[in-house]
Amino acid sequence: MTRMKSWDAIILGAGIIGLSLARELRRHGASVLVIERGEPGREASYAAAGMLAPWGGDLPLSLQTLAVTSARMYPEFVAEVEDESGDKVDLRDQGAIVFFSEHEHNEVPEGTALLTATELAGLEPCLSANGGVAKLQERSVDPRALARASFHAARHHNVDVASGSQVTEVRREGEGLSIQTTHSHYSAAIVVNCCGAWAGQIKVQGAEACSIPARPVKGQMLSVIPLQRGMLQRVVRAPEVYLVPRSDGRILIGATVEEAGFDKRVDPADIRRLHQQAAKLVPQLAEAKMLEAWAGLRPSTPDDLPILSATEVPGYFVATGHFRNGILLAPITAQLVGQLARGIQPELDISSFSLARFQK
Ligand SMILES: Cc1cc2nc3c(=O)[nH]c(=O)nc-3n(C[C@H](O)[C@H](O)[C@H](O)COP(=O)(O)OP(=O)(O)OC[C@H]3O[C@@H](n4cnc5c(N)ncnc54)[C@H](O)[C@@H]3O)c2cc1C
Repeated sequence: MTRMKSWDAIILGAGIIGLSLARELRRHGASVLVIERGEPGREASYAAAGMLAPWGGDLPLSLQTLAVTSARMYPEFVAEVEDESGDKVDLRDQGAIVFFSEHEHNEVPEGTALLTATELAGLEPCLSANGGVAKLQERSVDPRALARASFHAARHHNVDVASGSQVTEVRREGEGLSIQTTHSHYSAAIVVNCCGAWAGQIKVQGAEACSIPARPVKGQMLSVIPLQRGMLQRVVRAPEVYLVPRSDGRILIGATVEEAGFDKRVDPADIRRLHQQAAKLVPQLAEAKMLEAWAGLRPSTPDDLPILSATEVPGYFVATGHFRNGILLAPITAQLVGQLARGIQPELDISSFSLARFQK
């Protein structure tokens, strides 16, 4: 057993949510330790496409205010992270071409007109679509670069990081909390569980009601490099598949949505199907060279909404379950859960995202 060191706040999990929150708390003067069982930023946050889509067809209404606010925060959030880390994160501002159909439940946002064929050809000449598309003013970001930069920014602010250390249990200890890991234990006044799809695996001694109903939702995707670089400038979101261009010429094609437990294996048949669907939208993609295929586990909950919440254990908080929108929601989550953890009333109403909704 090693010595017990103490921090103001300990963040469990170094995905984009944990890293953004660590940086936020540190900026408000707290001493912060992040405990990560693997390598920072290598789980769901590494697998994401990076669309910042506050008007996504499948975005629940109750998340709209947080999503729109977070999307607005992004340019400043990225500028600060880039500045503090010295890294670049490829925030793109070209917008998205989104398919709208009566059968899908996504409606064209107010004030947005559908594009004519000529307008679409002027924007994305390689894209084949028979009407029903609109251009939305959305951004995208490279989540791998963002997580790496957020880690460097947090380190720049002297956030401590214990990686390769799996948290097993949270215990009350006097006025504070202690964290048991496979290697050591640590203590703090505030602990925030940001362990994504694994958040429910951390036991809280003597507090059954603190069990977190997080579940993994698998997503597979691939990246390709087309023969003609820069052929696609905007994100394209169609019902079966989406395309996300990066500034280095790659195009990401995603994604499956599967209830497969903690299985992260890639199925070549699924990857082939995604590639074929992408080629129906942009025929040149059929010839594009595949660079990489991967799978990640989106953290979800029984109602597919996040948990941004205090718990019945004083000082123990939860920020997880961001499902398909954790990259988009990272800035607002850091701000609101940061306020909650500091004992300040969050600026936006987050009562619908409390852990208590699962305990009735
Ligand atoms: C294919 C795919 C595409 C996606 N596309 C988008 C998109 O376009 N836009 C968008 O906004 N979102 C997207 N998402 C969703 C987004 O990736 C997630 O919502 C977000 O990354 C969740 O971040 P997180 O920090 O909560 O989880 P994670 O990134 O999974 O981080 C959790 C961390 O906790 C660590 N951990 C777990 N258990 C323990 C433990 N016991 N002890 C210590 N550490 C632990 C893990 O190792 C991990 O590093 C996508 C996801 C997938 C899979």
